[in-house]
Amino acid sequence: MTAPLIVGNWKMNGLAADLGEAQAIAAGIIGARARIGLCPAATLISRMAEAVSAAGVAVGGQDCHAEVKGAFTGDVSAEMLQDAGASLVIVGHSERRAGHGETDADVAAKALAAVRAGLEPIICVGETLDQRQAGQALEIVTGQVRGSVPLALADAGFAVAYEPVWAIGTGLTPSLAEIEEVHAAIRAALRQIGGRAVAAPILYGGSVKPDNAREILHAAEVGGALVGGASLKAVDFLKIIAAAG
Ligand code: PEP
Repeated sequence: MTAPLIVGNWKMNGLAADLGEAQAIAAGIIGARARIGLCPAATLISRMAEAVSAAGVAVGGQDCHAEVKGAFTGDVSAEMLQDAGASLVIVGHSERRAGHGETDADVAAKALAAVRAGLEPIICVGETLDQRQAGQALEIVTGQVRGSVPLALADAGFAVAYEPVWAIGTGLTPSLAEIEEVHAAIRAALRQIGGRAVAAPILYGGSVKPDNAREILHAAEVGGALVGGASLKAVDFLKIIAAAG
């Protein structure tokens, strides 16, 4: 069986003084049954990669521009992330879709850029609370998968992260049945892409904590987790990683 992928999204948190947490995570994963990644702010990628790569922790960006280089003030390309020591990148996080107006087409272009640069994209999808309450969760999420996962990724390494917007940072989570229903629908959408995509890991994200990680990580079609708040403290993130075993 493929090892689950458990990735911490540090969002806009973390200074050099916080690298000790990453080092503690790296020191604590010996023997873990999972692939581990940490996605800090771009400012920390290179120093974090130096600190944790030898222990087998993959480091990633939280976004990338679709172009290789150019007049895009403030943006970072996938090639730059790779150059800084990253091997992963999150694309299409709901905080970028909502706060920066990113469309499925933008996310697809970023996912392609990631693969072009040799990075493994983690392509995020997820419905809002209104959409779930209107009974549209499956339609929204599968539409996002079709729009954000380019067919050209069929033979690339990538992951999809199902992150219900209403579960991010709220302490709320869908029921296991709801998670499994959405993951099954994502798997069906990936089967239509074909190639390696049919087996791409589907991570769950949204208020994963030490006390709910075990049941979520063992749910059907859950191939790992994307963890925000609980990845900032090594003690919590290591408990989530241990729950995969
Ligand atoms: C996230 O932002 O990707 C996330 C899952 O956050 P949290 O775990 O804090 O809900």
